[in-house]
Amino acid sequence: MSTLVFLEHHDGLIQKGSLGVLARALAVGGQDVAGVIVGHGVADAAASAGAYGVSNVYAVDAPEFEAPLPQPRVDALEAVVTASGATNILFAASVLSADVAAGLSARLDAGLNWDITDFEIDGGELTARRPALGDTVLVTVGWTTTPRIALVRSGAFEPVETGGSATVKDVAVTLREYSTAAQMVEQAQEQASGPSIEDADVIVAGGRGLGAPEGFKLAEELAAALGGAVAATRAVVDAGWYPYSTQVGQTGKSVSPKLYIALGISGAIQHKVGMQNSGAIVAINKDPNAPIFDFADFGIVGDLNAVAPKLAELARARRG
Ligand SMILES: Cc1cc2nc3c(=O)[nH]c(=O)nc-3n(C[C@H](O)[C@H](O)[C@H](O)COP(=O)(O)OP(=O)(O)OC[C@H]3O[C@@H](n4cnc5c(N)ncnc54)[C@H](O)[C@@H]3O)c2cc1C
Repeated sequence: MSTLVFLEHHDGLIQKGSLGVLARALAVGGQDVAGVIVGHGVADAAASAGAYGVSNVYAVDAPEFEAPLPQPRVDALEAVVTASGATNILFAASVLSADVAAGLSARLDAGLNWDITDFEIDGGELTARRPALGDTVLVTVGWTTTPRIALVRSGAFEPVETGGSATVKDVAVTLREYSTAAQMVEQAQEQASGPSIEDADVIVAGGRGLGAPEGFKLAEELAAALGGAVAATRAVVDAGWYPYSTQVGQTGKSVSPKLYIALGISGAIQHKVGMQNSGAIVAINKDPNAPIFDFADFGIVGDLNAVAPKLAELARARRG
């Protein structure tokens, strides 16, 4: 098995980002790809990965992995890498995965490339693409030693449901003493209504063109009419108009909804890298020379204060 994909899961559900990386790995690496899942009581979650096309999943299942802490997972992955002989280990970036990947890199003395937006596997050899120089260029990166560890931008790839089942192989792990030193004291979750921007099929994103924090009402109304989520540019989250958790782009989240509607967004490269994999991009901007029109699929040159309410009205009428 040349390639392992870390399947991060919470509440029994494998995360969308991991399934996206798995889909890409299977597309370019064929059946020489396996999943790896670490947790407590993960048999069902491990088996569920089969529906996303992977035939083999390594499972490390023990009470010590109940809390989503990185260090025990480093021990688990080290054991799976040894058992499988994998030379490529892929992660979808998240707070947990980034820590596990960094720990594994130190443990195995393995090279880690991060912020990956695309990758290829050719004859088991991994090469990847990532933005560089403030996201102004895309570069190809490789590894000079094995195993190769890659941390892929969250949302870079969409999961592909194929149907099917996976054979789950249990791997036993003896944890290092220091790996259980940290305890999870408390876990809290932000309450949100509607889909998150990572999961939404439709995103309505607002930029400085909304004029003021109140302008986001237009984005929220349009998102509600389309059953979508609201995102924002860095310019507006920095200005305190909308929460940081909704920022899309180089220093925010990467998203790939089916439809991305950009309201009053200029289309700076640092924003583009976070949403360019969207299915269809619709831009509404009063400036016909705004860069966003260079990569939007549909463009409306006009005042968003007039266009957005009309779109919302049409969407509501369609739904009705
Ligand atoms: C290191 C670095 C990292 C960065 N990371 C990110 C990131 O993660 N995400 C991100 O988004 N940015 C990021 N940026 C900032 C980025 O460079 C841009 O400054 C930012 O994306 C611009 O946001 P904006 O499109 O909302 O604002 P602007 O660039 O000011 O664009 C506003 C647009 O609204 C249009 N407009 C105004 N009024 C109306 C109206 N009434 N109707 C229709 N259109 C209207 C204007 O024509 C204009 O095109 C980063 C920058 C740096 C240097």
